[in-house]
Amino acid sequence: MFSMQKTDKPSTSGYKLKLKYQYLVAPLTLATTLILGSNLPAAALKINLTYGASVTEEQKEAAELAALIWEHYITDDITVNIHMDMSELRWGKMGTAIPNLRNNINYDQFRIAAEEEAKLAGQNTYFLPTAINPEYSLASGYKAIYKDVNRTTLEANYSEMLITSANAKALGFNFDSRSVLHGYIQLNSRYNWSYKYAQGTVDKNKFDFTSVVIHEIGHNLGFISGIDSIVGDAKPSTLDMFRCSDYSAKLGTIDFSVDSHRRYFSIDGCQTVFNLTETEQTTNKKGNIIDQTMTYEALFARGLNTRLGGDGVQASHWTDQNPDTGIMNPLLSTNTIRRITGVDLTAMDYIGYDVDLKKYYKTDDNGDYILDSKGNKIVKQLDLASLQSQAVKQAGGDNYRPEYSPDGDNGNETEVETFMYESGIYYSWWGGGEECDPSDPDYPDCTFW
Ligand SMILES: [Zn+2]
Repeated sequence: MFSMQKTDKPSTSGYKLKLKYQYLVAPLTLATTLILGSNLPAAALKINLTYGASVTEEQKEAAELAALIWEHYITDDITVNIHMDMSELRWGKMGTAIPNLRNNINYDQFRIAAEEEAKLAGQNTYFLPTAINPEYSLASGYKAIYKDVNRTTLEANYSEMLITSANAKALGFNFDSRSVLHGYIQLNSRYNWSYKYAQGTVDKNKFDFTSVVIHEIGHNLGFISGIDSIVGDAKPSTLDMFRCSDYSAKLGTIDFSVDSHRRYFSIDGCQTVFNLTETEQTTNKKGNIIDQTMTYEALFARGLNTRLGGDGVQASHWTDQNPDTGIMNPLLSTNTIRRITGVDLTAMDYIGYDVDLKKYYKTDDNGDYILDSKGNKIVKQLDLASLQSQAVKQAGGDNYRPEYSPDGDNGNETEVETFMYESGIYYSWWGGGEECDPSDPDYPDCTFW
């Protein structure tokens, strides 16, 4: 048995939010540059999935679709290698993600790269935390609230941070690893899965496979919190740089502690909770277009430690609320399809990815956003039929790598084991919750992912 099974943590609960975009319009000069560059091949993310022996052709197709959906929105010209297995995980755990990560990345390295990326995207570049003492802000550093062993809230200066290798690659960092992989995904073979994401349906009383893979890829890309580390010495992650509480806002810090007060995603130095309103359009049977406008408020889950006031859900998620904030919600029910929302994409954008929102919202021939009658951007429907046919093609490619899968043999490290050992905090992973049987009426909400 693979040793990490003993230390895996329960996971995540849910979250959700509504949003309002605060992106600045790019100046004309920037637009001109973009037009000049349009003859170049378009930069694109490539998520290269490999599979262990337990993954069926149908599952590969559903997973390739998940990868293609992320690739559709993210334009960093990088390749991210993720290995996938079907495994008998505990009841209650839909899937897990184990990113290749490092806990000792110099904060200034991140800040400089992230601010550069933000500048190119025409965004606010003064959104990152700084140190308590002025002298720290000259060197590497930022301040955060944390809790000591007596549960007292303290402020501390950090000079290092946690980052996944895919996230680092998007920011242009050097991230040495002996493994070719950027992450690992397992889906639970105990569950009944449905594979109809492209048709927009789910088989009755089954879980949607593609939704779960999109979610687990999201963790590997970098949607994680250092709060979820079992060993306790994990530093704040790139996503934690935007993790705030009302209390931390007063102190001008990010909040890396667990308690019962709300935690929120903020892109203005904790001053406001990020929120977004967007409209989805569907056509009814009479052929009329129906607008469904959703407002998402970007709250984070508060962590597994309920004694400290956590909500019993891994902090590496949005909080579970209605409507669901996005694909990084901590809970999934049967008969449910989840999609990536503008909130998910905003978080990815701020941790360092290049996100093309014009692939996500409807635009006119000039490339300007089309707005609904209330001035909200309108979500563009994915061409799922074409993505699905591409997924089927990719699933049949050269992707069978059972030798990458963990085998628990210390004398012969596999690719997955190599990066888990290298990370030093490899027993921290994402996905899962208390062991529970979802058919048990006492545990109706026990489906973590
Ligand atoms: Zn998760």
